[in-house]
Amino acid sequence: MRLLAPRTPLVAAEVALPAPAPHEVLIRIEACGVCRTDLHVVDNELPDLHFPIIPGHEVVGRVAARGAEVARFEVGDRVGVPWLAFTCGICDYCRRGEENLCPQARFTGYTRDGGYAQEMLADARYCLPLPREPPAAELAPLLCAGLIGYRAYRKAGDAVNLGIYGFGAAAHLIAQVARHDGRRVFAFTREGDEAGQRFARELGAVWAGPSTLAPPEPLGAALLFAPVGALVPAALAAVRPGGRVVCAGIHMSDVPAFPYRLLWGERSVSSVANLTRADGEAFLAEAARLRLKPTVERFALGEANLALGRLRRGELTGAAVLEMPQG
Ligand SMILES: [Zn+2]
Ligand SMILES: [Zn+2]
Repeated sequence: MRLLAPRTPLVAAEVALPAPAPHEVLIRIEACGVCRTDLHVVDNELPDLHFPIIPGHEVVGRVAARGAEVARFEVGDRVGVPWLAFTCGICDYCRRGEENLCPQARFTGYTRDGGYAQEMLADARYCLPLPREPPAAELAPLLCAGLIGYRAYRKAGDAVNLGIYGFGAAAHLIAQVARHDGRRVFAFTREGDEAGQRFARELGAVWAGPSTLAPPEPLGAALLFAPVGALVPAALAAVRPGGRVVCAGIHMSDVPAFPYRLLWGERSVSSVANLTRADGEAFLAEAARLRLKPTVERFALGEANLALGRLRRGELTGAAVLEMPQG
């Protein structure tokens, strides 16, 4: 399913793939998650986007062929393809363990073709080994929503009262992790989203309400998964002195001006950019240990536009996943 031009529906197409390059694997895809970032790709809100592009960066599949230099995976192994597709390995960021900030980095479903497809090529050095047993649709949301959500979660430090703004795919996974860690989750949704608030309570949130409301007690930290800049001052007003507001999305509407007193008191705002391979391995181990189970809505590959539309309108519960025809 390819995006041919900005803000147009994806189009089914047959694309011939070359043989895997030395470090690449050919992957037969089982499932691919649908991420908020895919909407930013469709809407052409990210720099350096070239068309056509196949979106999708929460890919679960099996290795079908491998390049000459690939030793890590065998044919038949189950692998995950996350957002980070390539880094240079030699810049200051890469050498400091900050490959998520590498200026030469490439990204799955953004600067190289992704997983809204039956097959894809991926650099094996950036693929993650996955367990064989779980249904593919339950692993896919871990690969971005879970993984980058977890990077944001760790940036929140040891806050006990954790606010989560935007209760979608990432939030519903991170709320489960937070609960395991003994934190108290305060979930903020769009105004009137009673179903989203109920879903958050079912997952253990101690409070759920619209983002226009102040929480009943101050937050230690807030994670922003909704791409709405106006939530930054709202979240700053909700965190206690010393608290942190972490923006987890790749794109956000402009942050409106706000009085300095909201930042005063050593509050801080930071963003989370991409992931490192170490993040991927740490989170997948944690997800297995906690037996994290995403709530998924399944769509056929050909229904990608339907899934994106429902994500855009906030109509999903949990994560949307495309399942590919097998066999
Ligand atoms: Zn680099
Ligand atoms: Zn994503």
